[in-house]
Amino acid sequence: MYKIKFYKGNYSTRQSKANNDKAVAYVEHHFNSSSSSTANYAVVVTGSNASRTSKNWGRWYAKAVATFFGTQVSGDNGILVGGWNGRGDGNLKHTNMPAILLEPLFASNPLHAEIIRSERGQTDLARILVESIQRFFPNGGLIAFSVGHKYKKSNPNDRGAALAGGGNEADYAEKVLKKAAVMLEAIDQIGTARTIRVMRGDKVLLETEVDEDALVVWDTERGLLNISE
Ligand SMILES: [Zn+2]
Repeated sequence: MYKIKFYKGNYSTRQSKANNDKAVAYVEHHFNSSSSSTANYAVVVTGSNASRTSKNWGRWYAKAVATFFGTQVSGDNGILVGGWNGRGDGNLKHTNMPAILLEPLFASNPLHAEIIRSERGQTDLARILVESIQRFFPNGGLIAFSVGHKYKKSNPNDRGAALAGGGNEADYAEKVLKKAAVMLEAIDQIGTARTIRVMRGDKVLLETEVDEDALVVWDTERGLLNISE
């Protein structure tokens, strides 16, 4: 089972509370911003002292987001170890557990901002995050969530970047994390087998378990997903 707790206060306070609670994973959600309105990539920040698990988890998430939304990944195959010239490092480096800071889309890109504001986009982002947690922390446990910018004692009015067309980074990051929390707490089986799903929008058309070592190949020409076990 997963239990989710949202941590508030200054970033170092959030991390030490999550350490005390023995959280198994820590996620801080942001959206990226750039002076260019066409910046179009996903990236995940890890602490400068990040574990292998943090790095692999971050890369998995960035790639999944980029694949889903048809964007690119940036940094070192999707991650920036130690942040943007150190920015973001302090948001993570005090954690004792694997920790990642998400920058899935750009608040400053009008096309991304539309996705961020949409219920559907928030659900899609939440689902990818949930899947990443299931994959890297299959045994369940306490997952620590931190909304970037919001709820800091040091700067209570900070909401991060403005979204092109209205709204702000932090409020939408919070919406995504809240959706992810609901999804995670609804999972009643942990350590589940490898699963293949076919989805149309939000609807699952097919869900089936496959062997961990099955070869699964999508054949574009034939429109065939072939599972060899
Ligand atoms: Zn931010």
